[in-house]
Amino acid sequence: MSDRILVLATRNKGKITELRRQLSGFDITIKGLDDFPPVPEAIEDGMTFEENAYKKAFSTARSLGLPALADDSGIVVRALGGEPGVHSARYAGDHASDEDRYSKLLKEMEGKTDRGAYFECAILIALPTGSSMTFTGRCDGEITFEPKGDKGFGYDPVFLYPPLNMTFAQIHLEEKNRVSHRGMAMARLKERFNEVLRWLEEQRINSHAT
Ligand code: IMP
Repeated sequence: MSDRILVLATRNKGKITELRRQLSGFDITIKGLDDFPPVPEAIEDGMTFEENAYKKAFSTARSLGLPALADDSGIVVRALGGEPGVHSARYAGDHASDEDRYSKLLKEMEGKTDRGAYFECAILIALPTGSSMTFTGRCDGEITFEPKGDKGFGYDPVFLYPPLNMTFAQIHLEEKNRVSHRGMAMARLKERFNEVLRWLEEQRINSHAT
């Protein structure tokens, strides 16, 4: 196990397993929030995905004194002025289901001919000092008129991916990971992870020197 630690600012076991898998070839140990005593939860009231990812990553990094990674994502719909956007997770209220959220979106889209939309994802690593590195991904598509498919989660059944003429809920996870906003942001993180390791090392040396 490496003594270089990166904390994933989540309790979601699926996200931790996935990040460990993606970064398995690198000299780093990935931990989750459950590996530490409770830390205060960040308020995600930013205007952009990057801002929210920064709030989550930085508050964790500052509380634990360790580098932390957070992600934030959502769906941006052109005819709705960018909504649900950063409000994607709570678009239909705090206790709503995925179906409630995409049904609300379809209702708001009634009568709209411009169906253009995209998913966006920001993955961000923050240090206790406040400096950060960001990796983003975007996937363009269209909002359907009715839900289609039973795979995936969230808004997948109403997001048409034009190159395959299928919704994200109709394509296999491996295929979605190749083309999705999160897959793209993750690929960029992996591509540049040696640079990330050098950056973490420099910061560690500097913090010991001061
Ligand atoms: P978070 O990044 O987990 O905070 O995701 C925010 C919300 O955006 C989720 O609750 C979903 O509703 C939506 N979302 C993000 N990524 C996807 C995706 O790949 N498919 C469908 N919905 C998504």
